[in-house]
Amino acid sequence: MKIYWTKINKIIDETSEVKTYLLDRPEGFTWDEGAHTHFALEGFNAGEKPNRSLIRHMSISTLPSEDSIGITTRIREQCSEFKSILRNMEVGHEVAIFKTHSNVPLKREDRNVYLLSSGVGLATFRPLVLDYLEHADNVNQIHSLNIDSSRDFLFTPIFESAPDKKFTSRFVDNREDYYEEVKQLAADKEGFFYIVGSDEFLTQNIDVLREQGIKPEQIMLDKHEQQLPAFLSFNLSS
Ligand SMILES: Cc1cc2nc3c(=O)[nH]c(=O)nc-3n(C[C@H](O)[C@H](O)[C@H](O)COP(=O)(O)OP(=O)(O)OC[C@H]3O[C@@H](n4cnc5c(N)ncnc54)[C@H](O)[C@@H]3O)c2cc1C
Repeated sequence: MKIYWTKINKIIDETSEVKTYLLDRPEGFTWDEGAHTHFALEGFNAGEKPNRSLIRHMSISTLPSEDSIGITTRIREQCSEFKSILRNMEVGHEVAIFKTHSNVPLKREDRNVYLLSSGVGLATFRPLVLDYLEHADNVNQIHSLNIDSSRDFLFTPIFESAPDKKFTSRFVDNREDYYEEVKQLAADKEGFFYIVGSDEFLTQNIDVLREQGIKPEQIMLDKHEQQLPAFLSFNLSS
């Protein structure tokens, strides 16, 4: 396993609680849209065993063409040790990234794609949308639906509907509107439905989609293949 140590080159305050840390892209480091990585702080591998309190899974919110690795996260006042260290980090400080993989690359199979997310989960989808807007080949259209009760919606210049590019986006601040729209989107029995958020959020969305007749194969989760059956209750090997 290769551990890449790299430096923070910019910190963007996306909202009052959400920050994006842009990291220098180490030579030879690349990733696919939708990738997540292991993001670790100094000292995580100092002992015999890795110190898990200094490691978090994080999506990469940028594309390689942007030439920086973006990590977008919410840091609340009451937060973990990891986030309280991160909050005090500055440009030039070092962090580590390793084990990078995308479970949710953009499917280019001439179908409609629906991106369902909660809060900072939108970060996972930012590179999918940028990739699509750069070249739309074999994707019919994309619609993003994000719920954030804080109403501090993220990445609004990118997640702005562009009907000429067959990209539409909606932000909502309450569950009623959110699930009402999910039901309507599920009228498309051929679409791909990507979901990113807490496990509880995934389960609730999957329940609504399945009730509307969406099949497990149409539902994309940022989970390892072995974890999928627990959510989609079907056996991949069968
Ligand atoms: C594949 C994958 C991709 C992911 N991508 C991202 C991503 O791009 N961005 C992202 O932010 N997360 C992402 N996550 C989740 C991430 O790994 C963390 O689990 C998440 O950010 C929570 O971080 P934390 O444990 O440091 O807790 P925090 O965010 O600090 O806290 C979680 C909750 O616990 C409360 N809390 C924590 N400590 C205390 C305390 N001492 N007292 C009172 N309340 C407390 C907080 O208020 C908060 O509500 C991803 C996870 C996976 C599996």
